[in-house]
Amino acid sequence: MKFHKNAEQPPCKNMELLLQELATGKLTGIKKFYTVAHAAQCQGCGNFLSRLKVTLDILKETKSSDPVPEDAKSRLRAKIEALESQNQ
Ligand SMILES: [Zn+2]
Repeated sequence: MKFHKNAEQPPCKNMELLLQELATGKLTGIKKFYTVAHAAQCQGCGNFLSRLKVTLDILKETKSSDPVPEDAKSRLRAKIEALESQNQ
């Protein structure tokens, strides 16, 4: 059976919170290992994690240097679009 390879896949429901915690650095030990391993082999979770990481990077940048949210938003969108085109 073939799925739409390029279609956007949502992360697994039971992994969403773990992925968020992983991206924010809250996850440790076996849970972290498990989540990283899962995201590496699951397209939906992998994409979700990349997006979270991009989001957090930009939030950090924004906090330290650039207080304009509009700018951050467009940069975030550009990064996500770049990521998506890489995955295709
Ligand atoms: Zn998954």
